[in-house]
Amino acid sequence: MTDNVHTRLAVLGSGPAGLTAAIYAARAGLQPIVIQGIQPGGQLTTTTDVENYPGFRDVIQGPWLMEEMQAQAEHVGTRMVWDHISEVDFSRRPFRLIGDGGIYTADTLVIATGAQAKWLGLPTEERMKGKGASACATCDGFFYRGKKVAVIGGGNTAVEEALYLTNHSQDVTLIHRRDSLRAEKILQDRLLANPHIRIIWNHEVEEFLSGGEPEALTGLRLKDRLTGATQDIQVDGAFVAIGHKPATELFQGKLKLDDEGYI
Ligand code: NDP
Repeated sequence: MTDNVHTRLAVLGSGPAGLTAAIYAARAGLQPIVIQGIQPGGQLTTTTDVENYPGFRDVIQGPWLMEEMQAQAEHVGTRMVWDHISEVDFSRRPFRLIGDGGIYTADTLVIATGAQAKWLGLPTEERMKGKGASACATCDGFFYRGKKVAVIGGGNTAVEEALYLTNHSQDVTLIHRRDSLRAEKILQDRLLANPHIRIIWNHEVEEFLSGGEPEALTGLRLKDRLTGATQDIQVDGAFVAIGHKPATELFQGKLKLDDEGYI
């Protein structure tokens, strides 16, 4: 149990946004604390190869990058706190943050709790994460150069990811559960005009198929939502692009959130 801690500036969240804020705050002499949350380092710690972070010509690892950011933040005077905040009180100042390990008061709070990509929630999808199932085409698309890939979803993200993937693959399949896209018209037009993208309408993914040693994705089992018929398609990479969920449950009723949960 940590003693009650008062700070001029607390940062909630230890991904790149939170640590960047902390580095600047520390260098401004504010002696910030960063409360790490349940996934210290954030979404990048679930990635392996990172090839698009400015300043690194060679491939670096997501967890390593986050360790370096944390070390830099600490080096300039940030205090890292391994705690999870379960309640906040913004009705008075200083703000109160109630954690599993203690109570924190802060004159200023930077909220950098980030978001999580939504997944379909299939057991085979879970097993294939990092082995062919991804939720980020710009992060992982490069690894499928010249291979067959699929994107699941029908919103702007899915269409942008499908278009982006044609930089690497000549064989991109968009799988959507309905017969019309939610994405903006201009993106739909680009998608439909792209000769390297085909669309499978009214289908949902039932299973991620795998094989080989080491195990890798080999395809997807799709179910026609109108007829119930199933078909298998062969792909090397499958990108789930069905939206993101902001990590803002903590602020329900305390801050104004939009319908999607964004502050
Ligand atoms: P959206 O919520 O807009 O779209 C999600 C898509 O995934 C929908 O087509 C939805 O289908 C489908 N979907 C959701 N759940 C499932 C499921 N369980 N199984 C199969 N399909 C599913 O999310 P986006 O991430 O695309 O976009 C989020 C917001 O960000 C939007 O406002 C978007 O406009 C914006 N955005 C803007 C961009 C830009 O301006 N360049 C780029 C990217 C995003 P259905 O349509 O049937 O509901």
